[in-house]
Amino acid sequence: MSLVEADGARFIIDSGILFPYEDFFDLNYLIPDMSDLGKIDRIIITHGHEDHIGAIAHFRDNYPDVPIHTPKFAALLMAKKLREAGHAQKFEIYKDLDEIKLTDSLSVFPVRVDHSIPDTHGLLICDKKSDTALIYASDFKVDNIKSPSLTAAAKRFSTFTHRVALFDSTNMTSGQDKTLSEDELYEDLKTVIEESSGRVFLTAFASNVDRIQTVNKICSELRRPMVMIGRSMKFYTQTAAEEGYLKEYSKIHYDWGEVLPDQKNLVCLVSGCQGDFKSATRRIITDEDSSLILNETDTFIFSSKTIPGNEKKLSLLENKLSNRGVRVIKPGKYKIHASGHACKEDLKLMYQLFKPTHVIPIHGESTFLDAHIEFAKGLLKDINCYRLLNFRGFEIEKNGEVHIFQLDQLDPILIHGKGIEIERSALSERRKMACNGVIFVSLNLKSQKYFIDMRGLPKKMTDRKEQLENLVKVHLNGKKFRGTEDLRVNIRRFCQEHLGYKPVTLVQEV
Ligand SMILES: [Zn+2]
Ligand SMILES: [Zn+2]
Repeated sequence: MSLVEADGARFIIDSGILFPYEDFFDLNYLIPDMSDLGKIDRIIITHGHEDHIGAIAHFRDNYPDVPIHTPKFAALLMAKKLREAGHAQKFEIYKDLDEIKLTDSLSVFPVRVDHSIPDTHGLLICDKKSDTALIYASDFKVDNIKSPSLTAAAKRFSTFTHRVALFDSTNMTSGQDKTLSEDELYEDLKTVIEESSGRVFLTAFASNVDRIQTVNKICSELRRPMVMIGRSMKFYTQTAAEEGYLKEYSKIHYDWGEVLPDQKNLVCLVSGCQGDFKSATRRIITDEDSSLILNETDTFIFSSKTIPGNEKKLSLLENKLSNRGVRVIKPGKYKIHASGHACKEDLKLMYQLFKPTHVIPIHGESTFLDAHIEFAKGLLKDINCYRLLNFRGFEIEKNGEVHIFQLDQLDPILIHGKGIEIERSALSERRKMACNGVIFVSLNLKSQKYFIDMRGLPKKMTDRKEQLENLVKVHLNGKKFRGTEDLRVNIRRFCQEHLGYKPVTLVQEV
């Protein structure tokens, strides 16, 4: 989520989520804190990836009436989120190079770009008064630099004195020069599927409609039934098919329940390419679904990259596959995955086309931004590069000078369950319970009765329940009961002695 302000107008670009780190206990996602954004006139969505639209319902909670400008495909994806949250599904649908006019001086022109989800746009932001234009493309790759959209945008961009490029940094350290185009995958994917005499399971990012279309095309040519497995895979493919992105889809797709499980020619598209805990990919590989047990005639294709942090989860699953004798195919030997983000060569083409005066890399880890700046400096003469981190803003003066400033750092809001915020304190309680287990003690001082329950503790501790009971008894029978807190501290001390750590302990009078 970014905020742009010019000529008295303020608009937001995208409203995305961040996926939690491993140790966040099943937390669904993180959203930006929108409580202090002030007046917002519009929100402009660039494309339908979760890191760009995932928090749209939360944006609506904060801004019920602000118009949402969006391309069609992202609108379809957002409609579901808004409907589930009880909001109206009203959008201002834009098309390539439409003008979104905010004031007499300030206009935004969406610019069609290639990415890994259909209908993705960069934004050309033009402010006549300050003679400044921004080309904002957080997610793109270049399949065709001569596309009419890019050419037209670059032409308009060139009429401004101050020209700022905010481009994707995702692949700055990937080591690859040029991002593959989706078309380049067809050959190898077809070979791998054709070579498989048994069932083929292929996992990919469910939102990667182009990949699904590639597989769809191959299945159609090879006359193999395509089976959709997993909630998100079904949702994205259905949405894409309804919009005409998947040709022949209706003729060849099935649900798992509609095919014979052992049918050798099945090509199953499975969601969960990052091996997430509840995903279809993981369920299948760990035999959780008794109707689908993999065997040595099967092939499992990972048509995706591993997002940093997921390496362990995925290598565990790959080992399980290999123990089972399943043929595992990953990108490398075969061209079966193309990134949706620009590599150096793509960026070079864009810089040569747009000829910016200022470069401010975006969309990437800090080290990627640094690498991007170094790359841009080596490429372009007389440019000003700035490094912009989270919660930093930049301001362009009329003379083209740039000031970077610090914004109030608001922690992201943690979301779990039905889009509900969970406080950090509650999460830290969860962590303590999960790491150390829990002991509950209920006391009735009058009747001298007590009840002890232990959860998540080792047998060595539950075997000592009698000792723990004695400890409680001593406290109850003591001449002067010194309160529940005193007992709690003593139980924890007892645990420390026997376990080496202290479980969460709750002592209450009933
Ligand atoms: Zn994206
Ligand atoms: Zn993104």
